[in-house]
Amino acid sequence: MIERTAKNDRPDSLRAMNRTFIICKPDAVERGLVGQILARFETKGFSIVAAELRTLDADTLARHYAEHVGKGFYNDLVAFMSRGPAVVAVLEGPEGTWETVREMMGATNPMKSAPGTIRGDFGTEFTENLIHGSDSAESAAREIGIFFPELAN
Ligand code: UDP
Ligand code: MG
Repeated sequence: MIERTAKNDRPDSLRAMNRTFIICKPDAVERGLVGQILARFETKGFSIVAAELRTLDADTLARHYAEHVGKGFYNDLVAFMSRGPAVVAVLEGPEGTWETVREMMGATNPMKSAPGTIRGDFGTEFTENLIHGSDSAESAAREIGIFFPELAN
C-alpha cells in the first residue's frame, strides 16, 4: 500500500526533483554506445537537462577525481578520460535519482557488475568502464558545479 504522506499527495510535477551528473566516458563514445546508455536513463523516466560532447583536460579531471589524485590507477585514468571526447550530462528525476543511476551503472569493475546494468552488459575493462555517476547528493552538486556551473544553485 502506498503511504499517504503530504509528499505523496503532491502531483509529480511538484515533488522534490533531484539532479545527478554522469559522464559517458571516451570508450562509450568510441564504441557508439552513448545512445543506448542515455536511452536506459530516459526509458527509466529520468530527464536529460544538460548534455554535451566534450574532451576533458587534466585540470578538470583533477578537480572531478580529487579523491583519486595520487592513487596507483590515477595516471591511467586521466590518460583514458582525456584521450577523446566524452559526453557529460545532467539527469533529473525524483529524490534519490543519483542512487538509482548508480544502481543502473553497476559495480565499478564490469567483470563483477550484474547483468542488466550498463557496465555489466557492455564492458569487461576496469578502467574503461563506460560511465561515471555521482556517488551522493553532495557529489552531484559538486560535479554539476565543475561541468555545468550555469546550473549550480
Ligand atoms: N578505476 C580504476 N582502477 C581502480 C579503481 C578505479 O581504473 O582500481 C577507475 C574506474 O574508471 C572508475 C574510476 O577510476 O570508474 C573512479 O573510481 P571509483 O572507485 O570512484 O569508481 P566509480 O565511482 O566510478 O564506480
Ligand atoms: Mg566514484
